[in-house]
Amino acid sequence: MTEEKMEVKCPVCGREMEVSKVGVLYGAVAGKPRATSTYKDKIYYFDRKACKKEFDESPEKFIKG
Ligand SMILES: [Zn+2]
Repeated sequence: MTEEKMEVKCPVCGREMEVSKVGVLYGAVAGKPRATSTYKDKIYYFDRKACKKEFDESPEKFIKG
């Protein structure tokens, strides 16, 4: 039985992680997501609380492009 996972990137520092499609956070490729944030109906994953904090302070800075 395989679980569907997707790769996610911390928008702040660029570190890659994996997360399952049902929303369970996994420790994976290079790190373990420690925090999430929802901004404009999209979920962002962060490897560190410090990254989440930075993102929450100015989300636009990290998602443009
Ligand atoms: Zn990060």
